[in-house]
Amino acid sequence: MRILGTSYLNLLDSLHDGVYVVNRDRRIRFWNSSAEQITGYLSAEVVNRRCSDNILMHVDSEGRALCKEHCPLRATLQDGQKREIEAYLHHADGHRIPVLVRVAPLFNEKKQIVGAIESFNESTLRADLIERLHQLEALALLDELTQVGNRRYANITLSTRMHEFTRYGIPFGVMMVDVDTFKDFNDTYGHDIGDMVIRMVARTMQDALRTSDVLCRWGGDEFLIIVPNASEDQLQRLGDRLRGLISTSFLTESQGILKVTVSAGATMVAPDDSAETLLKRADMLLYRAKDSGRNCVLVELATTAGQEV
Ligand code: GH3
Ligand code: MG
Repeated sequence: MRILGTSYLNLLDSLHDGVYVVNRDRRIRFWNSSAEQITGYLSAEVVNRRCSDNILMHVDSEGRALCKEHCPLRATLQDGQKREIEAYLHHADGHRIPVLVRVAPLFNEKKQIVGAIESFNESTLRADLIERLHQLEALALLDELTQVGNRRYANITLSTRMHEFTRYGIPFGVMMVDVDTFKDFNDTYGHDIGDMVIRMVARTMQDALRTSDVLCRWGGDEFLIIVPNASEDQLQRLGDRLRGLISTSFLTESQGILKVTVSAGATMVAPDDSAETLLKRADMLLYRAKDSGRNCVLVELATTAGQEV
């Protein structure tokens, strides 16, 4: 018995969704081109076989087989109801593909069920999964308080820049920025206002940087900025600009206008550097900036910093 006419089948063949049609015995009578692409099974391999012969072997997210007991096609053939389920189908190459499956009954002129049509679409669910993965990935690299990169992101970026430097000679600089006497600030105004200040400092810096510069919260009140293609002069100018902008930023709270200053140490990568030696040098320069009275930026090259520190 013909379930669908040729013109309908041509139409179904042009759809982006995978589509197949079964008769009352769940024998596959039609399998469109998208079904071939999504599953890796050609029409000739599946037409006239029964879907319960475990071709697609649908499973749910817990891995339970749907084809024998819980086949949506079988249920629809019995009750004439449409169904929609999320499932994982089996690709001819062996892997599982997440799909949204929709099943609808097919009736003849006498309103008798003569078969069913199943469409499946991998894009919706997969796009969701990819989106969720991106979100998770972003979350894992983001500092919750400031929404700038976290220490992990800093280390990843640093190793990428180190690789570019050793392989292609592309220079970069790093700058460690730390809020001055922040323990006292916290003690005076409380931790919550302290948090607001950390956010303010991060936002001020983020907005003043180029998109290629990477700002990360290294921890506590300390930030690391990785500056690609910089020179020592540029680092100094950048540090002075950030220091100046932060010293003129303020929160207005019931206690009055609240401000902080920052100190920074910055240096350019040198041929003998590892990520550790580079960071250590920036850290030592920061320490010296603190020692020389705070609210201060010190920038030096490897050799000079090495001699003096
Ligand atoms: P210095 O000028 O030498 O940097 O003095 P400091 O008091 O800022 O010393 P240090 O940088 O070592 O101390 C950082 C302080 O920042 C310690 C801790 O009380 C505070 N802190 C760390 N993380 C947070 C945070 O997430 N929120 C708040 N409010 N405070 C924090
Ligand atoms: Mg500090």
